[in-house]
Amino acid sequence: MGDGTKNPPGAVSGASNPGAEFPGGDFISDFIAEDLKSGRFGYVHTRFPPEPNGWLHIGHCKALTIDFSMAAKFGGKCNLRFDDTNPEKEDISYVEAIKRDIRWLGFDWEDREYYASDYYEYLYELAVTIIKKGRAYVDDLTEDEIREYRGTAVPDKNNITFTPPGRNSPWRDRPVEENLDLFARMRSGEFPDGSKTLRARIDMTHPNLNMRDPVMYRIRRATHYRTGDAWCIYPMYDFQHPLSDAREGITHSLCSLEYEIHRPLYEWFIKEAGVFPSRQIEFARLNLTHTVLSKRWLLRLVQEKHVSGWDDPRMPTLAGLRRRGYTPEALRDFMTRIGIAKTDSMVDIALLEYCLREDLNKKALRVMAVLNPLKLIIENWEEGKTEELEAVNNPEDPAAGVRKICFSRELWIEREDFEEVPPPKYFRLFPGNSVRLRYGYIITCTGFDKDASGRIIAVRCTYDSETRGGNAPDNRRVRGTIHWVSASAALPLEVRIYDHLFTPERPMEVAPRPDGSPGSFTDNLNPGSLTVIPDAWGEPCLARAGEGDRFQFERLGYFVRDSGGDRPVFNKTIGLRDTWAKIEKKGKP
Ligand code: ATP
Ligand code: MG
Repeated sequence: MGDGTKNPPGAVSGASNPGAEFPGGDFISDFIAEDLKSGRFGYVHTRFPPEPNGWLHIGHCKALTIDFSMAAKFGGKCNLRFDDTNPEKEDISYVEAIKRDIRWLGFDWEDREYYASDYYEYLYELAVTIIKKGRAYVDDLTEDEIREYRGTAVPDKNNITFTPPGRNSPWRDRPVEENLDLFARMRSGEFPDGSKTLRARIDMTHPNLNMRDPVMYRIRRATHYRTGDAWCIYPMYDFQHPLSDAREGITHSLCSLEYEIHRPLYEWFIKEAGVFPSRQIEFARLNLTHTVLSKRWLLRLVQEKHVSGWDDPRMPTLAGLRRRGYTPEALRDFMTRIGIAKTDSMVDIALLEYCLREDLNKKALRVMAVLNPLKLIIENWEEGKTEELEAVNNPEDPAAGVRKICFSRELWIEREDFEEVPPPKYFRLFPGNSVRLRYGYIITCTGFDKDASGRIIAVRCTYDSETRGGNAPDNRRVRGTIHWVSASAALPLEVRIYDHLFTPERPMEVAPRPDGSPGSFTDNLNPGSLTVIPDAWGEPCLARAGEGDRFQFERLGYFVRDSGGDRPVFNKTIGLRDTWAKIEKKGKP
């Protein structure tokens, strides 16, 4: 095992087990290396197995990053396999969205694109093999009865969970021939939905409930998006998954921790079917503060229209993150920083934002835009005169060069950059004070205009011609610099500002409602998660920005061009201020 001592940044300590979170060293690599050394496997082959019943979210990003990187690290291969054995919930549109998002992240499955639904015949044959060994039987109990017979895990008075033994089905001892006959007739459509199942014959007293004769096949007359109506029986996940892995020669079947309790069953099916002995290894799921990461919950947000779709920029889906302005590099950096752990934990979303800011700081071109415009009139600047000033495109990247920006008598500045009566330590504009206009001149505020209602509608000033473009005589130092755009040249923009979709850190912790009814996680939605600014102004060069182009609006944050809207739309990706550094500092003893 690797170095288990380091706690990488980002692990918010879980309540129960803080010391054991993110044990640092990458235990999966250690397992794989051992398997290669011992000769258990002569090569490494992994798979990423999404079910096409929703779009990929950042939790899947962790899984697929691990799957693809482990293969790469050991010179092996990684398959993309759609685990599509639930006809009611799956759809080709999800397949396409998943493929697009994996490619966007930069991972490549080459020609290794597989579908569990292509294995239906193979899986059926293996089920027959298991029946012939007397290890599976056709059961006439209903799904409810099966659940009841299986028993449940219950806490006793000392709060110790125990699992009273289940009961055998009366059909458990059917002779093999009868089972083979009934299973074939299940397939040919002789029995109604839900009237029979095929079950593994394991042990109804097993302490692990998953081992109490789990269902292998159920009858469902549902049209599958790939196999149509060819089948009316569908294999269950726990049966299908190990055998699909085996069929593809997957050496290491990496999955999230909730499958750990299913591992004995994974191994049982492989043994009884007599197929390639894939090895399942589990890692901690990714949980993020202020976020829900389960397709089931994300689907509800979409269906109930709490968001505009799977790719709403507030969604933790890869498509949502992309529209929000996330880069694949930032996501991959985040995955490396959180590392691979064996214990579930909650990661602070501020760490994800930190990774994004780091990446955008290097890449994003700087421009100026004004979100809450207030007119600034330069009284000693000639009417109609314009001048071109030079602005740096990216101080982090000299190769990004410079651009010309238009300066004129009337400008837009942010309303917040002027105060009639300045609060203490306010270094921006107020009557009598001087500031620098970014890339332009030093100006001095001479007054302001109000409308009948008392609202300030314009600020007046004079400029000092000696101070162009950062030049200033020694006696003309000013404390504040503000951004602006020329009112005559600016481009009208629509800007959308986002906040966390959920207000509390743990949205799934739901309080009961005032009327006593149980609450829903949607009660925790942040009503202020989207603010639309329909009337912002930006530099004219923004008209040329293509969808997905990212910018830093100086002093405001990072923004990305979105599609749609009457005016060019920009989504706010993230502010400039790093909250992560603060959190990290706070955490230090
Ligand atoms: P969800 O809980 O969102 O419905 P799922 O597990 O049902 O996810 P699948 O399409 O079956 O979704 O997942 C594909 C792979 O992604 C699985 O190997 C699963 O272990 C992994 N995975 C899903 N969610 C996470 C997560 N939050 N963190 C890490 N891995 C995850
Ligand atoms: Mg799943």
